[in-house]
Amino acid sequence: MKGRLLNAYAICPTYAYFKLHYPEPPTPSMEFGKELDVREVVEEHIKTKCRVSYQVPLSGSLGTGRVDALIECADRVEVVEVKLSEGFLRPQLLQAAFYCILAEEALGKPCRALWLCSPSRCIRKNFTEGLRISVIGMVESLEEDLKTMPRGRPSGYCSYCKYAGICPWKRG
Ligand code: SF4
Repeated sequence: MKGRLLNAYAICPTYAYFKLHYPEPPTPSMEFGKELDVREVVEEHIKTKCRVSYQVPLSGSLGTGRVDALIECADRVEVVEVKLSEGFLRPQLLQAAFYCILAEEALGKPCRALWLCSPSRCIRKNFTEGLRISVIGMVESLEEDLKTMPRGRPSGYCSYCKYAGICPWKRG
């Protein structure tokens, strides 16, 4: 399982299905996103004395992913996800929580917090047991829903969705 699919799944199950089976070509905003200077965002908005690493590949029993930044302290880790926009905070939160779990396994330290950043700000959230349980449950249902097309969850996102042209659930 990949973290980016969990993010898509939190937006809409059908969107995650399409994303896996019909990978979209990079859009201008995705290209710009790649050029986002994660280090600059982190250094401006997060004050820490702990070691910070960037674009860290992680893997564990739940899957794999590449976290934008990993903060490693003596007794804990924290993860940072940086996005161009400030929208879709719940999907971003779940993706970061997924990386928290992978980081715990990889480094053998508890993940205490996750940071959701955009170029203008970073928000700190505690990594709670409730969030952990949500992520594990979502990974299980996502694995099942990637096999056959799941029912969509139409929303305002349909007007931006790259798959609206082929989606039977799209809104409007
Ligand atoms: S068009 Fe809407 S319902 Fe269909 S995949 Fe995209 S977000 Fe989901």
